[in-house]
This record gives sequence, structure tokens and C-alpha cells, in this order.
Amino acid sequence: MHRRGAHDTLARVYASPVVTSHRPHHEPSAGRVRRIRRALLGWYADHGSDVPWRSAEGEPGDPYAALVAAVCAQQTPMVRVVPLYERWMAAFPTIAAAARATRAEALRIWGNAGYPRRAGALCDASRRVVGDHGGILPRESASLLALPGVGPFTAAVVRCFGYGEQVSIVDVNVVRVLGRVLLGELEPAASLPPARINDLAEQMLPPGEAARWNPALMDLGAAVCRARPRCDVCVLARFCVARPRITRGESATTLPRQPPYEGSDRQWRGRILRVLREHSGSGACPWLTVRTLVARLVAKPEERARVRRLLDVLVVEGLAWRIGARCGLGEAPQGATSQE
Ligand code: SF4
Repeated sequence: MHRRGAHDTLARVYASPVVTSHRPHHEPSAGRVRRIRRALLGWYADHGSDVPWRSAEGEPGDPYAALVAAVCAQQTPMVRVVPLYERWMAAFPTIAAAARATRAEALRIWGNAGYPRRAGALCDASRRVVGDHGGILPRESASLLALPGVGPFTAAVVRCFGYGEQVSIVDVNVVRVLGRVLLGELEPAASLPPARINDLAEQMLPPGEAARWNPALMDLGAAVCRARPRCDVCVLARFCVARPRITRGESATTLPRQPPYEGSDRQWRGRILRVLREHSGSGACPWLTVRTLVARLVAKPEERARVRRLLDVLVVEGLAWRIGARCGLGEAPQGATSQE
């Protein structure tokens, strides 16, 4: 297998549906299910991503590696997941190492990968596993879901790739592929209830093949059945209920667009964390004054209040600290008192 640089998002949160579909349901026959499975697994053998955390051929892998990979993949394109995963695993190769990491260390390793709360959640989950489960990630869904930052997608990834369990993994790519191929929906995430997709995912899972089937679906959704589908090169085209609609020129329901990143609070949060991270990693004093932070970030006076407000939000979220006039990355170190 070779590594493909998938350009789509691996694991955006599967949003609740906003429209209920009234299209007839196309229940796949046993023969059709078999043919779809065979075609997709054949395609995956030649075109699937070769990523470090996926166990081979159903062999149990490393549950911690699977947890890290799944958290890294949340709302992040695959092209950025692999370097982030490798950086994290190099810094914290075991769950015990992640449990010992300070918030500042974790955030430095996370860098500018986005959604930095995930770094804190990984450390918190690791501490919980060390404290409550003897350092062994639980295998059961309910115990995994009780860990910080672990939702159904992450729990399924740990169970499938970490423990070799025969469970289906549902991310936004899987929703799109199954909803289009089996039900003819053009934008299934917007039109189908999650329970319906979960049923289909369970129905399609080939016995004993979860470790190949799940990534095959995810990869097809990332590389071929994208928001703008590439039906002409799709291995499932001859089975796909949606394809005639797409050929007729129908286009997918437009999902609400994300607000622009440029100038957003998200961008400013990233800038604040970057300054705190660089300062924290410089080997100098672990804090800087809020005034210095503001001065490094803004040229316009009207933006100062925004930086201070967002710093306060980061403090509440545990990503930064502020005591009096001082601030820094992660949790406050000893000695960071309120003197000026
Ligand atoms: S034929 Fe087109 S719509 Fe159907 S699964 Fe393939 S890429 Fe997606």
C-alpha cells in the first residue's frame, strides 16, 4: 500500500441532521452488500492510506496510538494528522508519558495544529487511564466514552485499531459514502439521522474485516467521494444510487459554510497561543506580562481589548494562565505569584 495525501477532513463532527429525508430507503440485498464489500476492499488494497496507527489485517495494534491518532484526526485534514501524530508520539510515546506531561509541554508539541483543547484532553484522558484503569486503556465503549475528549468516533477507532474489535467507525466521510451509495442522498450528513447511518455501517461491516473495511470507507470518502464526488474514477460507481442524480447534474445540498478564518476569534486565539508557546519554549522566564503579549500581537488600539478577552477565555479553558499582570502557556508554574 502507498500513502495517499488525502485532502479531505477525516473526522469532522457528524452534525445532527437539519432535514429529514423522505426519499425511499434502498435496503441493500445480501448479494449487493457482498459485491460492494469486495469492490471496496479490492480498491483499498491498491489505494488505501498507509498510516502508522492502523493495525494490519485485523491484528490488534497499540490502543494508545489509536487514541492519539483519533484525537489528532478530529476536525483535521489527514495531511496534517500524520505529522501531528508523529510529533506527539515522539514526545509522549506511552500513555504514562502523556499522563505526566504538563499542559504547557503538551501545547508546545501540539503547535499550531488547531483545536488545542485536544492536547489537554489527551493528557487528561491519559491521567484518568493511569489513575482509574491501571494504565491500560479500557476496551469497552462505555468506559472509553467516559474519558475526556473521547466520543463515539474516537472510542470506535481505539476498539477497532487498538484492540482488533469488529466495530464500525463512522466519520463524515463514511456518512457521505454510505448515504450516497446505498440511499442516493447527495449530502447525507444533512439529510439522514445518525442512527440510520449507524445501522447501515453495521450492516455493511464485513465479518472479520473491520481493520480494512473502516479505513477503506474513510479513504474512499476522503479521496474520491468528496463533497464534489469523482464518480468517473469511483470503484463503487456501478452500485451507487446517487450516481444517476449526480450525472443528471443535481448537486449536493449546500451545508452551512464555516465563517471565514481570517480575522476570526479562532485566528486570534491561535496567535495568542503562538506567542505564549514561543515564549514558553524559549528557555527564558516561563511567563510574560499581558502588556507585552498585547504589544506583540496588535497594532491597532481597538484590538487590545479583544486580545485580553480571548486570553481570559483561554485561561478558563485551561490552555493559558493569568495571575495579575503575568500570563503564560498551560498551567501556572510554581512561583508565578501576583506580584508585578
Ligand atoms: S459513484 Fe460518485 S457519489 Fe457514488 S460513491 Fe462513488 S464518488 Fe460517491
